[in-house]
This record gives sequence, C-alpha cells and structure tokens, in this order.
Amino acid sequence: MSVYNQYPNNQQQFSTRAIHAGQDADPSTGALNTPIFQTSTFVLDELGVNKGYQYARTHNPTRTALEQCIASLENAKYALASASGLSAAYTVTNLLSAGDHVIVGEDVYGGVYRLFEQVLTRYGLSFTYVNARNIEEIEQAINEKTRLVWIETPTNPLLRLADIRTIADLCHANGLRLAVDNTFATPYFQRPLELGADVIIHSTTKYLGGHSDVIGGAIVTSSDDLYERLQYHNNAVGAVPGPFDCFLVLRGLKTLKLRMREHERNAFAIAKFLESHPNVETVHYPGLATHPQHELAAKQMSGFGGMVSFVVKGGIDFAANTVSSTNLFQLAESLGGVKSLICHPATMTHKPIPKEIREHCGIVDGLIRLSPGIEEAEDLIADLDQALSGSPGNQQSLTNNGTDANSKLETRAAERALVQTR
Ligand SMILES: *Cc1c(COP(=O)(O)O)cnc(C)c1O
Repeated sequence: MSVYNQYPNNQQQFSTRAIHAGQDADPSTGALNTPIFQTSTFVLDELGVNKGYQYARTHNPTRTALEQCIASLENAKYALASASGLSAAYTVTNLLSAGDHVIVGEDVYGGVYRLFEQVLTRYGLSFTYVNARNIEEIEQAINEKTRLVWIETPTNPLLRLADIRTIADLCHANGLRLAVDNTFATPYFQRPLELGADVIIHSTTKYLGGHSDVIGGAIVTSSDDLYERLQYHNNAVGAVPGPFDCFLVLRGLKTLKLRMREHERNAFAIAKFLESHPNVETVHYPGLATHPQHELAAKQMSGFGGMVSFVVKGGIDFAANTVSSTNLFQLAESLGGVKSLICHPATMTHKPIPKEIREHCGIVDGLIRLSPGIEEAEDLIADLDQALSGSPGNQQSLTNNGTDANSKLETRAAERALVQTR
C-alpha cells in the first residue's frame, strides 16, 4: 500500500486545507493532531506486509502529513519534505546528469548560487545566469545541453519578478523543465504549478514554518514521473527532516494565511514609509505602483508578499549604521518569521556572490533587506525611523559609527565564512 494515494481535497478553501489536509485524527489513538512519530523503523505485519511505512528515511507518518498538506496548499499532487531548502534544491538537481546545463535567474538566493557554483560545477553541471525578467535572455541561453530553468520570484533580496507563465511556455516549447523557488511568495500568494512550472522548491525555514524555529525544505510537483524520481533521490541521498521538525512546519502551516496577511500589511506600510524617507534612495516592494513589475505581480500573485528591501543614501557606512541601530528589527539572516529581521545582503546572505556579480545584479552596498514580522506596523515604522535618523552625508559622525558597525559586520561575516568552511 502506498501512503501517497490519498490526494488532498482541493475543493476546500486555503485555510481549511492548511488545517485539515493530511491531518485526519490519528487512527490508532484518536489524537487530534498528527503525532510526532519518533521512530526509525516500522514493524512488519508479516513478511512483505507493512502498514505503508518501513524505514523512516523513506517515509514517516509525521512527514507524510506535512507533505500532503504542502501539496494541497500548492494545488499539487505531490510534495516531498527535505532537511532544508538547500537540500530540496540539491535533490531537484539530482534529476540532472554530468554534462547537463541549467539556466538560472541571476539574483537567486546566495546559498543556491553557492551550491550550483561551488559544488555542482565539480560534478560536470554547468550554469548560465540570466536576467530572468527578460525572456529573450533566457531564450538565448538555451543550448542543446540545457535541461532545466531555475528561477526565484520574487527574488531575494531585490524583489524582482519573473513571468512564470511565459517562461514555462518557453521551457516546454524547448523540452525543458521549469523549477520555481516559491519561498518568498508562499502558496498563499502564488502557485507556480498553476502557471505552468514543473517543480516548486520551498525553504520551509521561512514563511511556511513561520516562527524562525526550524530548518526545512520541500519539493512540490504534479508530475508522476518527476515525483517518482525525486522521491527516489530524496531517499537515496537521505537529506530528510526529522519528525519533530515536520511537526513544527505543519503547526506553522495552520496559520499561514493569517500570518501572510499580517506580513503583507506590515510590508506595505513600511514600504510606503520608506518611500517618503529623505535618507532612502530606492524601495523595492512589488506592491508599490512604482515597482517596475507591479502589473505582473498583480497578475501572477494574489498578494505582494511580506519582504521589503531598500537602498539608503550614503552607501555602506550608513547602511551598516542603520542595520546596527534598530531595536525591534533583529540583525540576522533568514526571513519569514513572526519576529522582524533586518539584514545587509552584501556582507551577510549574499557574501558568497562575488562583488562584481552582486553589484551587476543590483545588490549594492547600501541595500538593506527587511523581513517584517507580525508586530504592530506603527512600532516597526518607529523603529526604522529612529534607525534611519541622522544624515548619510554627515561623514564626521558617520565615519565613527559607520566604521564601527561596518567592522562588526565584517567580523560577523568572517566568522560565518569560517563556520562554512568547516
Ligand atoms: C532560505 C532560502 C533558501 C535555502 O533554504 P534553507 O532552508 O536555509 O536551506 C532557498 N531559497 C530561498 C529563496 C531562501 O530564502
């Protein structure tokens, strides 16, 4: 018997599915919530007969519940939970073989770039980075070895969009698969499979988990063939999440809609505030009418998401000063939790990307990324207001503050680089 024959009921509304899909009361005990099945193996009824579970790397009931729920929220047939967003990305690349070529949106998550460039190029895969806003650039990058197009939309940290339907059509006309990293939008605001994508990747560490207390990932597809191969590799490679982590993400999913609405409300209010701030040069938020792809966002998403980024005047000094001066916004990597975070991509999340490439993509030294939580907007805005006070042009006071903050950031970045080499 396969535990994957119970396709979710997609007739129900989003929040109903978030709370019920894959989550019937436990048949053996009546437990309302899916238990944390903390077991490595499952006892056979008799030789060759089991209850759908055999060994917990392959399947675990807590994980099954999570997978069915995520599949349902993406209106997909299948989901696979993985140990992290990056392991989900890695498993998708297991569909490829040495010699294959992948076209990648140029401002993908820094860790995905590192995985592709530092790890997978050694396995004979090659990658071409393109501006995914421009369909011609994608088309021109296709060669006879190309198998996959990989995009993120909206992107991290510039909140640029790629037109999923147009790119999917291009891919399918050329026999390619399209993978979309849907971490930023979440299925509440965007469902890439409905727009033609073949595979979705999530870092459930972010909005799906929602509380900054777990690392996890997921792969979603409606293709029987892709699912079978991805499931095979997820098991063969073994980067699977433990049952407690699955439980945490499943718990997070139950409030996804409520949280995403609040994140979006706060992001909107903050984006508007920043737009009118004298020390801010540019604001990136797809919900603003001034966003160059606002129309596309309104078309392919049902909301604009919770992430905002902006460029301060005064470059690295003022940016470093600002991210070190907030009280509610915590200076940390990651995003998508109920508690607000602030980050400086050039020295933190996007440090693995060489400076020339970074700047070419618009990840300049003055760029700051916000992940507004679900605190009250007025408190978050007051926090940013005080952090942005002062004058970016005032070198006298800034050289000190800025240098201090800057060297703190550099020390942190150096520490991180050290950790990563371990
Ligand atoms: C965080 C993130 C990842 C990687 O996920 P982990 O859970 O940290 O491994 C991939 N893509 C995007 C867009 C992310 O934000």
